[in-house]
Order: sequence, then structure tokens, then C-alpha cells
Amino acid sequence: MSSVIDEDDVSGLGGVHIKYLLHCPRQLWLYMRGYRPEQRSASVQYGEAVDETTYTRRRDLDLGEAKIDWVTTGAVIHETKSSRAPSEQHEAQVRHYCLLLARRGVNVRGGVVHYPLIRRTVEVAWDASAKALAEETESRARDVIASPTAPPRLDRRKCRGCSYVDYCWSG
Ligand code: SF4
Repeated sequence: MSSVIDEDDVSGLGGVHIKYLLHCPRQLWLYMRGYRPEQRSASVQYGEAVDETTYTRRRDLDLGEAKIDWVTTGAVIHETKSSRAPSEQHEAQVRHYCLLLARRGVNVRGGVVHYPLIRRTVEVAWDASAKALAEETESRARDVIASPTAPPRLDRRKCRGCSYVDYCWSG
């Protein structure tokens, strides 16, 4: 296992880092050291396909460290998920995008997570407590990344479906 962190990734944390942190700190740690099996996974490709076909009129926003699905007038950040289950991880990702935009001087109003497969949306507030939460999450991600050793594995049952399962549990 390499202990070298990809410098491009450490300069700014994007949505994927927050997603991995909240799923499993070990996954974030491994990801930052170049282990990325998820890039080729069927579920990710499926997610991208849903994402591409569901909304045709939108404006992507590429911040470098994060690619936001689209931002509507008044600075409302939108994120589309192929999941059928709304989750706190998705909201945290949107809060992180709010934080990144706010740091660039944008007067962010909030966010919306879209779940086209279940025709639901979840609103994500952006206020002082949401900002504090986003900053705390980001700081936790940085602590995990800086750790010299890999965080422990999750309970095996929670690893089901994780693309790192072969790495963590083989041998
Ligand atoms: S397989 Fe389990 S321990 Fe390993 S990264 Fe995935 S969730 Fe974490």
C-alpha cells in the first residue's frame, strides 16, 4: 500500500471525499492513496447514466476540486442521485458544495438533492449551523487523510456493496 497522497487531491476536497468520509473513513484514506476501484464499478456507471438522461437543461459548475451538478438563479445548488434512498451523506455533499461556493464569495441560498428514481427532492439548508457542520466535516476529512495509518475496517456487514471490499477483506 502506498503511503503517498495524491497532491492534486489534497489541495481541495470535493464531494467524493465527503461521501467516502461519511461512508467509511478507511475508504477516504485508501482513495487518497490512489486505490480507486469504484471508477469502473457498474453502480457508478449506472449513476452517471441516470444523471445524464434525467436532466437535459442544466449548467454544470466545475470548481476544480468539485463538479456541481447545476446551480440555479439565486445560488441554489442541485445534486442528482441515482439512489432510491435519501441519505445524510448526500446532504453533506451538498453542504460541502455550498461551503466551496461561499468561500468564493457566492451568496449561497441552499441546496436540493434530487432523486429522480423515486421522484423526490430533499432541501438542504444553508445557514450558520449548516456552515459550521460543513466545516467540521471537512476538517474531519483532512484529519483522516493526514493519518499515517489506515483507519480500521467497518463491521463487515456495513461493507456490503463497497467497491473496496476485495482490498479490505481478501487474504
Ligand atoms: S470494505 Fe468496508 S472497511 Fe473497507 S473501505 Fe469499504 S466500507 Fe470501509
